[in-house]
Amino acid sequence: MTDEPKRVAVVGAGPAGFYACEDLLKHGFEVDLFDVLPTPFGLVRAGVAPDHPKLKTVTRRYEKTASEPGFRFFGGVELGSDVMRSELFERYHAVIYAVGTSDDNRLGIAGEDRPGSHSATEFVAWYNGHPDYAEREFDLSVGTAVVIGNGNVAIDVARMLVLDPDEIKVTDTADHAITGLGAASVEHVIMLGRRGPVQAAFTNPELLELGELKRSDVIVDPADMQLDEYSAKWLEEHGDKTARRNVEILTDYSQREPQGKSHRIELRFLRSPMEIVGDDDEGRVSGIRVVKNRLSEELRAVPTGEEEVIECGLVLRSIGYRGRPLPDVPFDERRGLIRNEGGRVTDEEGRPIPGEYAVGWIKRGPSGVIGTNKKDASDTIARLLEDAEAGKLNEPAGETDPDAIEAWLKAEVPGLVTWEGWNKIDRHETTAGEPHGRPRVKVVSVAEMQQIAGG
Ligand code: NAP
Repeated sequence: MTDEPKRVAVVGAGPAGFYACEDLLKHGFEVDLFDVLPTPFGLVRAGVAPDHPKLKTVTRRYEKTASEPGFRFFGGVELGSDVMRSELFERYHAVIYAVGTSDDNRLGIAGEDRPGSHSATEFVAWYNGHPDYAEREFDLSVGTAVVIGNGNVAIDVARMLVLDPDEIKVTDTADHAITGLGAASVEHVIMLGRRGPVQAAFTNPELLELGELKRSDVIVDPADMQLDEYSAKWLEEHGDKTARRNVEILTDYSQREPQGKSHRIELRFLRSPMEIVGDDDEGRVSGIRVVKNRLSEELRAVPTGEEEVIECGLVLRSIGYRGRPLPDVPFDERRGLIRNEGGRVTDEEGRPIPGEYAVGWIKRGPSGVIGTNKKDASDTIARLLEDAEAGKLNEPAGETDPDAIEAWLKAEVPGLVTWEGWNKIDRHETTAGEPHGRPRVKVVSVAEMQQIAGG
């Protein structure tokens, strides 16, 4: 490397983006971190459940990264519209995508788009005050909700539906959702797993939390805990600690006497959704038709043909995410991820493209917890360092001077928000939260954020 520091654009200011910045700064690079929103922290702000404030304290580490010399934040910049990929390559020695996986998987069954059927993505983004989802409406004046999927996101949305309003109002849940959830009449949440308890993707602390809810009993049918032979064998021979403990926790739930709490979360297994039914073709959700499954030797769900209709007024599908392609950036349609080899973005022949990298969920898929992205990012940065050493980064043809780049961005992107601007939004939110004992009152309009940041 020459004496001039190499400059990297990191696109996406969630955990993976911040861990990438941290590593790059440590190795003498300068970074400009971009985000489509005026606010940083990605899913820590817009995904992590508001009643899990401890998980959000990880932002202190990101703030430390942001305070390092050589770091800048540019919020409110959309790659592919405000700024093009080619324009970044004109100005930076490398570009790293850390954009996460923002599209939700679909069930592909009839009735999926009925009023009252939503993705968990929408619901989570709504209660977390993501500006693009603040105006969404959820009819919570129903008695029963069905959550499809057996992952931690399913647990989050099920729990949020039954929390006591007193528990919600001390969190940073968006004000519109505090009102909406406070007025909700959902008393019964059914979580559906297409496979059995052994295959559930929950982590232990999240599953345990379901058994400790103030106003909700947790219900598991003891018959569901009679494991089929293949699951029992798998658990015996290959079961990891998490799966074993999940089975113990669920067995405990199946043996509990309901305590007569006002709400219930019920976990039902080995059922696949076939159709979301309603009163007429376009009508609101009135139920979900499911087929009972058995497990094959390969532990796949196989329909038995036996069906039932579960009556409900709300369906939230929580069956994982996939990446959204970025204009001009190689994309693997099958995997729903940026095409890459260990973080190096590759062309159609599988050759690495100089100076182009991916980290986090858009690199490996939506798995793991926040901390998983630390190792993931440092693996990619290790590849970038090898490439830098070998002289294989991008050679920018344009202006690389940081001040000139900022001037260009200011001219291109009305409402650009810098780290200083974000700090103003942050202070505004936390100050508004203080009198109510809340960590913050989120601003949910981009225009208002820009106004506060500019003021
Ligand atoms: P996930 O853990 O991958 O779970 C997805 C669930 O959807 C699985 O149970 C899967 O079942 C099911 N599914 C997929 N396709 C289906 C279909 N067509 N019909 C019925 N069920 C289907 O995904 P996630 O819950 O979205 O979570 C994403 C990541 O974020 C995970 O790593 C999770 O741990 C993490 N997260 C962590 C926390 C936390 O730490 N508190 C909170 C939220 C999220 P199969 O197994 O049968 O495919």
